[in-house]
Amino acid sequence: MILLRKTALRILIAVALAGSVDAVGQEQGGFSADQPMAADSRIAAGLREVSAERIHVNIEKFVSFGTRSTISAQDAAAIANGRGVGAAREWIKSEFERYSKDCGGCLDVKTDSFIEPAGGRIPQPTTIANVYAVLKGTDAENAKRIVLVTGHYDSRNSDISDVSHDAPGANDDGSGTAVSLECARVLSKMKFPATIIFLTVAGEEQGLNGSHHFAAMAKEQGWNLEAVLNNDIVGGDKSAEQDRSVVRVFSEGLPVAATEKEIERIRGLGGENDSASRQLARYVEDVGRAYDVGVKPILIFRLDRYLRGGDHYSFNEQGFAAVRFTEFREDFHHQHQDVRTEGSVEYGDALKFVDFDYVARVARLNAASLASMASAPAPPAKVRLLTKDLENDSTLTWESSPGGRAAGYEIVWRGTSSPDWEHVRKVGNVTRATLKLSKDNVIFAVRAVDAEGHRSLPVVPLPER
Ligand SMILES: [Zn+2]
Repeated sequence: MILLRKTALRILIAVALAGSVDAVGQEQGGFSADQPMAADSRIAAGLREVSAERIHVNIEKFVSFGTRSTISAQDAAAIANGRGVGAAREWIKSEFERYSKDCGGCLDVKTDSFIEPAGGRIPQPTTIANVYAVLKGTDAENAKRIVLVTGHYDSRNSDISDVSHDAPGANDDGSGTAVSLECARVLSKMKFPATIIFLTVAGEEQGLNGSHHFAAMAKEQGWNLEAVLNNDIVGGDKSAEQDRSVVRVFSEGLPVAATEKEIERIRGLGGENDSASRQLARYVEDVGRAYDVGVKPILIFRLDRYLRGGDHYSFNEQGFAAVRFTEFREDFHHQHQDVRTEGSVEYGDALKFVDFDYVARVARLNAASLASMASAPAPPAKVRLLTKDLENDSTLTWESSPGGRAAGYEIVWRGTSSPDWEHVRKVGNVTRATLKLSKDNVIFAVRAVDAEGHRSLPVVPLPER
């Protein structure tokens, strides 16, 4: 018995030592496997408020506008008649305003409106309006950090220029727009240190016009936009082969915004699997493990599907981390099609093909990701891997997480051929640490963690001589 106790004590001491870092940040050996982030009970409670019924009502409303083609009518008469993109826009605005009223005016409802000149799929100069709601962070410094969810409220049928026939767009992208709205309704009842933006854009089908304008504005105004979640076709189309237990998360590898110099570094050191967007995708996967949202994110390591694009690309172009959520299996009879029946095949993006419970699960995954990032400290700044000496240890340095909310830092790493973080070393509230691991054999990143365990996005170090 006594012997057993001594053994147990020795094990305890060994465990304590393995987790410690000495005064110079020297790692004491021992790998620990990376664990999923801790679920926050407040966030978990908020997720239960996400309603498949609300989502059903909202998508039905989108379909009721007949067409939401970006080039459809938006004059006062069309808005009064409830048909066309203008009526859809006004309704989204009123819905955000209603949520804001319910939270004592906590949402700032805004419109980013501009005239897209004629060209491409825009036959004449056309007003395009992105409608969004801002839930400002409660912490003055951290409120400058922004995480964003978006979907496109425009729709199309077989002919991209057709504005007279119906283009219901229930799945593409009534579903994604409903995700953005439902996240706004639910998360506006909570408070977060960082800012969350709930965006709905138009012009996607004509050429990503709305998101392009919005992302360029964010860049021009110097927004600290940490993450963009784009939901496009998340309706869980009810085809026989659909897998409604998963949602695909697409992320770019080589960043479209990378400079020649950055590409040279990526080529030399193997950074093609470590864009900021890919770290965001891994974060979403981490969230999916921590919260039981009913749908599992599966990461697709490519920008988008073959021959297809989406609004996340507009944000990638401006250098922001952005990913795309899309159902597992698309039914192309139900996208970009006139509503009709040919033989036994039903065409068109109709309401009846959408699984509202599935959309609600995707909304929960989005809400949990937004809430986790907005609760977390800012990612550590200026993360560097020291390379001036040839040595088998690896020393990382960084600057404290801006905004002062970090209680400590964690270094994560994985083998160069592994898709996701495998190991973690908790290094405490320091800005430098040395690990007995060769930088040549693994990929490192550093994340900030607060006292409750909220994790920031991890940051891969730049080499420093
Ligand atoms: Zn779409």
